Amino acid sequence: MKSKRSIRYETLSCKTILNEVKAPSMPFARSLNPYRGCQHGCSFCYARSTHSFLGLETDDTFQNHIRIKENAAAVLERQLRAMARSRRGLAAAGTVAIGTATDPYQPIEGTWRLTRQCLEVLQAYGVPFSITTRSPLILRDLDILRQSPGSSVNISIHTLQTGLWSRMEPSTPPPDKRLATVRELAENGVRVGVFMAPILPYLSDGDDDVRAVIEQAARHRASFVVPSFLRLSTAAVKVWFFQTLQEAYPHLVQAYADLYAGGSGSLPPAYRERRMPFIRAELARHGFDAEPAARRTPSAARPPAAGDEAADEAADGQPVQLSFLF
Ligand code: SF4
Repeated sequence: MKSKRSIRYETLSCKTILNEVKAPSMPFARSLNPYRGCQHGCSFCYARSTHSFLGLETDDTFQNHIRIKENAAAVLERQLRAMARSRRGLAAAGTVAIGTATDPYQPIEGTWRLTRQCLEVLQAYGVPFSITTRSPLILRDLDILRQSPGSSVNISIHTLQTGLWSRMEPSTPPPDKRLATVRELAENGVRVGVFMAPILPYLSDGDDDVRAVIEQAARHRASFVVPSFLRLSTAAVKVWFFQTLQEAYPHLVQAYADLYAGGSGSLPPAYRERRMPFIRAELARHGFDAEPAARRTPSAARPPAAGDEAADEAADGQPVQLSFLF
């Protein structure tokens, strides 16, 4: 049984909420994260590093100390109003990526509804958005999603193995609930796909695992599937992941140490080249685009000063969910 933990919530006023993503390799120009920290506390979460950018600890503080940007919607409205008056107008917003550094539908959203308020503002200004989440709570906002042309949803599902899921993602809703969410969104006319991320070497990269996720994504009417392998982008991310690995899969510690010895945080190309043909073939077999246009390699993050609002943007520089690493 999962133990109950104590979470500290803190409200803050942000100066900006719509962050410009400067990395040209990113498939979006702006990002938005109504919270800092994520109650889901996934062992592989790249965003753990954003806490260190803010001068906070990157250990379990990341999931146990959540900051709530209580004025998010008002600030978003102000930023969009100013943008509408600018030379480029609202086109400058592009598609806003929501949930690049935290899950916008983590449990606290059920109370604060900041993500919903931000969606209402984006919809009012006609600005499309792309949401990444692991939570069925997104269905609460179906009314907005149905009426937001050009927008899309990415549901992250890295495995259907329940044992692996609960060890690696201690507080996320189970994969079958997420698949049901995909179906419900699709049946309501929302463009929705599955981020098969992160694929974990020796744990969720086997033929049967990969096939099962892709097959179920197709059955649940996903429009796309984007596979992405585990990145251990910073020392903080690496330390936390290896701690979980040591506890749950000690026999794999050495194998992972060898795989990620390169220092880039990415898997060696030879490994990806071995696995990708099968993944591409499965994607194609189920009618998914096996060569997504957005094949991008995230660039290194720029660590901003502690307290800098651009911390979210820095996190956006290397998201797990949004890294298209083949
Ligand atoms: S991977 Fe996503 S859901 Fe998991 S802790 Fe990080 S931001 Fe939250």
